[in-house]
Amino acid sequence: MWRAVFLAWLLAFGCARADWEVAQIDGRDYVSLASTAAFYAMNPPAAAGLKKFVAAGGGRAIQVELDSREALIDGVRHWFAFPARLQAGRAWISRVDVSHTVDPALRPDKVQGMRPVKIVVLDPGHGGYDNGASSRYGYEKDFTLDVVRRLRKRLEAAGLRVVQTRNSDTFVDLERRPRVANRTPDSIFVSIHFNSADWKPTANGIETYAIPPLGAPPSGQDSVMARDRLPELGHALEPVNFTLATAMHHALMGKMKAEDRGVKRARYVVLKDAATPAILIEGGFLTNPGDAARIANPAWRESYAAAIAAGIVEYKKLAEQGVKPREKKDW
Ligand SMILES: [Zn+2]
Repeated sequence: MWRAVFLAWLLAFGCARADWEVAQIDGRDYVSLASTAAFYAMNPPAAAGLKKFVAAGGGRAIQVELDSREALIDGVRHWFAFPARLQAGRAWISRVDVSHTVDPALRPDKVQGMRPVKIVVLDPGHGGYDNGASSRYGYEKDFTLDVVRRLRKRLEAAGLRVVQTRNSDTFVDLERRPRVANRTPDSIFVSIHFNSADWKPTANGIETYAIPPLGAPPSGQDSVMARDRLPELGHALEPVNFTLATAMHHALMGKMKAEDRGVKRARYVVLKDAATPAILIEGGFLTNPGDAARIANPAWRESYAAAIAAGIVEYKKLAEQGVKPREKKDW
């Protein structure tokens, strides 16, 4: 029967009062949006258009789209590991997504394993013979280093120490980059990139990446592959990485006028080899005329650096004082 109490999971949440509705869909555990809403003291979900369901209340909101991995949580886009589904006329979310996306997004202050933030390791993508993407205005490697230098000034002004994986136009191996953070205690790792999609010049906007939950596919991949089940160094801090990514994405969406492409998941080397909290930000598309012109503008890069600095400060306050990060609407 689909109405059941999922004991192990309730124990993991340290809560026995909610009656979780669990069903097997696509061969895995799904939880009803209704019982999820009840657990977080939201109102019962309601249909919002043909394929969407919304649960809201108490300052929290989840919108899921049936047969889609995209969801809006507290006003910013997130990417589920598995699509939301319809069963018995109601919406269901995979158990993995409730525990690894919905819960840390709604209750970041409950996430375990956060450490004080003393040093920020900034990683300007690419360098040397590796130009990265390019636009008519320049190379990704130069834009990322410029943003990092602006960001460094702002973080140092806020009392943080900064280490960079490169500070000149030199090539640095991907594997070496997270190691810089791994040998720096109480650090976080923030990798700065710009995007490209030659086949789709309309693609634009900002996306923030964390490592996928162990056993879940990256956002850009439809099904689980064998490699998704291999534990990596970065998995030890997966909920922390996601929490850092979400705090950052709220700051970016609140402060920048940009298309929200969401908090996504990928097994990038710099994320999977990191033993400290690690994220990667794609700050717009060099292949999109609008984004490319903005990225080429020093004033935009200064605002962008300010938004990233704000996201880091929000995460630091969360990690050190348990203060819930500001949401998109609060900026
Ligand atoms: Zn890049």
